[in-house]
Amino acid sequence: METIGFYAGSFDPFTNGHLQIVTKAAKCFNKIIIGIAYNSEKEVRLDKEKMKEAIEKTIKELEIKNVEVTLYSGLTSHEATKYGANILVRGLRNGTDYQYEENIAENNEKIFGLDTCYFRAGDLGYLSSSLVMELWKNNVDISPYVPKYVAKILKK
Ligand code: ADP
Repeated sequence: METIGFYAGSFDPFTNGHLQIVTKAAKCFNKIIIGIAYNSEKEVRLDKEKMKEAIEKTIKELEIKNVEVTLYSGLTSHEATKYGANILVRGLRNGTDYQYEENIAENNEKIFGLDTCYFRAGDLGYLSSSLVMELWKNNVDISPYVPKYVAKILKK
């Protein structure tokens, strides 16, 4: 059976922490789909199409061949199923992430029969999209924390 993982998130922006999770997951699954979510309750800060392109360029440059990027709205499980994904991929930074993710993972398993696979953030566990946005808004150089192509779209 082909193993297809669906890695969903706001990726607003996509950070080196997210990239590390994609790299790890791509080694474990036949294919990984990165799903950039349009979440109506969350304020959208950056252009999603541009973010998709920046992620695609990053993946290409790293010569990771089994990763695709898509934009979606609605339920993650519905989108994952559309792509034939049999597992959801998430990253864990700490106990707070675990508590939060466990609840979602349990719902996805109970309601949609989709299991979740967690990967550890390790030394990039301090990174979050909101931290990067906060630094960016205050004119701190964010290039150490995001892939080069993401830094480019964040240029002021
Ligand atoms: P969401 O809006 O769904 O929380 P995010 O884009 O913030 O989306 O994160 C998507 C996933 O990536 C989540 O599983 C989150 O825990 C994980 N993640 C975020 N930052 C990191 C990081 N620095 N290292 C590892 N995983 C991370």
